[in-house]
Amino acid sequence: AKAKSRGTISIFEPEMDQQIRDRRVLHQELSVAIKNGELSLYYQPQAAAGPSVAGSKIIGFEALARWHHPVRGFVPPGDFIPLAEESGLIVEMGEWILREACREAASWAVPMQVAVNLSPAQFTHGDLVGLVHSILLETGLTPDRLELEITEGVLIEDFDRGLSLLRRLKALGVRISMDDFGSGYSSLSYLQAFPFDKIKIDRAFVINLGRNPQSAAIVRAVIDLGHGLEMSIVAEGVETEAQLAFLAEEGCDAVQGYLIGRPAPIGQFAALVGGDHLA
Ligand code: C2E
Ligand code: CA
Ligand code: CA
Ligand code: CA
Repeated sequence: AKAKSRGTISIFEPEMDQQIRDRRVLHQELSVAIKNGELSLYYQPQAAAGPSVAGSKIIGFEALARWHHPVRGFVPPGDFIPLAEESGLIVEMGEWILREACREAASWAVPMQVAVNLSPAQFTHGDLVGLVHSILLETGLTPDRLELEITEGVLIEDFDRGLSLLRRLKALGVRISMDDFGSGYSSLSYLQAFPFDKIKIDRAFVINLGRNPQSAAIVRAVIDLGHGLEMSIVAEGVETEAQLAFLAEEGCDAVQGYLIGRPAPIGQFAALVGGDHLA
């Protein structure tokens, strides 16, 4: 049998063997990537939803990790984040990402928001609350400018622990957003049980706005639901003026996507954040 599930391989075939060796090499390379200065953060703008791009003011940025491998070149986060999660490297890497994003945001002359993605392993290993607290103190970023993005996956494993962590993080004054809402196993009970400040509607629904009426109905319902729970709503993957106009009309609070801006080094947004950034 060729039965193969995540992390378990029952039969070794030559090409699988090669794949395993490749992964091992990639793991090793990733483990020195931070020290070698190969990791960096790109920033993608988020704007208050207005009727057009011109009428949508930028209010903050999501920090997105990038790995510039000296030989392989650019490795996308969709490839190396899962690798870092499997190997446990994500804990150290996540700490670097959080510190770097907070340090960066604290240097802006314009006090915009910064959103940072957290992985499940960061919730289950080490003292996340203590880490966030000390990074805020160390960088001088005020807590209300930091938003932590998590997916349901983080909370599925241990409900009580997840709830306690979210409450303690919120007590620090940071905001929590539910990322990729509607993808995977999103459950309405999570929205009721956990104190999210924000819901990020998954790109999959936004892509289909205008293509199928079901997506429009779902997006509309999520906006109403979120507002009913006193959460604010961000739509991800907004690429067209028509999508933006629909979202603004339906009362969506904020938008993120190529229409507003692609992820880029912060220097590209120097005019927005001010400070000593060179374009
Ligand atoms: P995500 O958190 O859902 O991030 C949004 C992704 O959608 C980003 O991909 C972004 O470049 C992409 N995107 C934004 N606007 C558009 C659009 O209009 N159209 C399309 N087609 N795509 C758009 P990216 O940067 O490749 O990141 C992929 C995923 O990798 C992220 O998804 C997140 O799950 C993970 N990731 C990235 N950085 C970090 C990090 O620092 N820590 C952790 N734990 N995960 C990260
Ligand atoms: Ca995210
Ligand atoms: Ca997302
Ligand atoms: Ca995603």
